[in-house]
Amino acid sequence: MARKAFRKKSKPYATVSKKIKIDVCGICNQRCIFCPNAIQNKHHGNIDDQLFCEIIHDAYHAGARELAISATGEPLLNTKLEEYITKAKKLGYEYVFINTNGVLLNECRAKSLMECGLDSIKFSINAGDPKTYCLVHGNDNFNAVIENIKKFGQLRRDTGNRCKLYVSFVAVKETINQAEKLSSLLSGCVDELITMNAVTRGGGISVPNSMLGNDSFSFSYPCGQLFDTAVVLAEGYMTISRHRGLYCKADCL
Ligand code: SF4
Repeated sequence: MARKAFRKKSKPYATVSKKIKIDVCGICNQRCIFCPNAIQNKHHGNIDDQLFCEIIHDAYHAGARELAISATGEPLLNTKLEEYITKAKKLGYEYVFINTNGVLLNECRAKSLMECGLDSIKFSINAGDPKTYCLVHGNDNFNAVIENIKKFGQLRRDTGNRCKLYVSFVAVKETINQAEKLSSLLSGCVDELITMNAVTRGGGISVPNSMLGNDSFSFSYPCGQLFDTAVVLAEGYMTISRHRGLYCKADCL
């Protein structure tokens, strides 16, 4: 009886997610030790222009309203990023955001991102000082990225722009106590510092367990993204969550 009632109520097809993430560039200019991007050998550069436009158009008309113009790679590597944000906002997306490592965010790009209507930017910075940044990210851009974040915050204040500014900090064993350090370096500049532990992502990355942190930062399972976000890779495949091709592929073309 209960099964009959369920069948009557449920639709014969899946509803379209209100949230969509599209990789406009599949590669990254960092090599974070916990990140699948750094170890996966199949990379795709920038997304095809027409494909991006078709996806945002179709998704919007199917009901999507929140758009991340980044998923597994570094969006600032794509020089058409601002054009894509403008198109998405014109279409009517209510919330458009990017996640970036911030290395390429010079003043000119910060200004253009704000002007084209970006709703939020989240910087991935996974250390509290240059030495551990080098260990985790694989390069010495720590000071430059901190400067870029501060300049973005300053520009936001000067112009009265409403773009939200977040920082995410993924901890490994060596950095488990550095969130505070990072927080005080950026105090008064960012809206929120989001902390979490590095995980093996279902065994999909090769970072040794000895490098991973403990459970200092909470994370609620299961990850909501699995159920409420559609993720499209730069090559036009769909994947579950943001783990490039680790779980499944469905052609989006
Ligand atoms: S965590 Fe972000 S910045 Fe680091 S390698 Fe992965 S995509 Fe690049």
